[in-house]
Amino acid sequence: MGLLEGKFAVITGAASPRGLGKATAKLFAEHGATVAILDLDQAQAEAAAADLGPQHVGMACNVIDKAQAQQVMDALIAKWGQIDILVNNAGITQPLKFMEIEPENYDAVTDVSLRGTLYCTQAVVPHMRGRKSGSIVNMSSVSAQRGGGIFGGPHYSAAKAGVLGLTKASARELAPDNVRVNAICPGFIATDITQGKLTPEMKEMVLAGIPMGRAGEASDVAGCALFLASDLSAYCTGTEVDVNGGSLI
Ligand code: NAD
Repeated sequence: MGLLEGKFAVITGAASPRGLGKATAKLFAEHGATVAILDLDQAQAEAAAADLGPQHVGMACNVIDKAQAQQVMDALIAKWGQIDILVNNAGITQPLKFMEIEPENYDAVTDVSLRGTLYCTQAVVPHMRGRKSGSIVNMSSVSAQRGGGIFGGPHYSAAKAGVLGLTKASARELAPDNVRVNAICPGFIATDITQGKLTPEMKEMVLAGIPMGRAGEASDVAGCALFLASDLSAYCTGTEVDVNGGSLI
């Protein structure tokens, strides 16, 4: 029996074929959950959901559009009768240095991580509170903990540190209603966000900073998301879990 039998899960930014959201959706589905894949493009979201099986749903949702986020969550609650799990996974990064960041760069990166996490969470909280049950998983990053590095600029680090703040504050506020909120801090994971942007020298440098000596797989992060989404972590809230091959040791 799967860990998520009878559960309904929404995952944002989950249409990217090699992304963390899609891997999480796949593992959740394997554990019995019915999954909604949200992403910017309707056709891509539908295709990603179809890969999982006919009961799963793909919908367009730009997470920085508060009204749209509410509309999509309301439609899913009307269809399913419940949402048990929300994974705020959508995120973008820009490899800029501190002095290169223009206002539009700052807004683009922080909006997806911070407004997106806030708006999607706000859209499900009244429902989860009413049911006295829910698990929300927010995707932060090792960049929040030690500065951006090669992929994320300082604005990405700030956005992902903000996600940790949102996680802890919302966890504290929602705990009395048994709605749990936790964060994952992935390290260097092989996905579209990181692949193809590295010279062999850069890759060597990144790997030298990882005690386990390899990039993570999307499935490594999905396993952590499964733990946090499921009742295995029933007494965990406001935590951040590192999935980074030992990068912070
Ligand atoms: P990815 O680029 O493969 O997937 C991100 C998805 O988010 C894409 O499908 C994209 O279309 C979607 N998206 C972007 N803006 C959106 C918006 N406004 N509304 C809805 N969807 C939107 O990236 P990934 O590597 O799978 O990363 C997933 C999450 O994990 C991100 O939040 C990222 O910052 C974080 N993360 C990734 C790594 C890594 O090494 N890959 C490390 C740490 C954290």
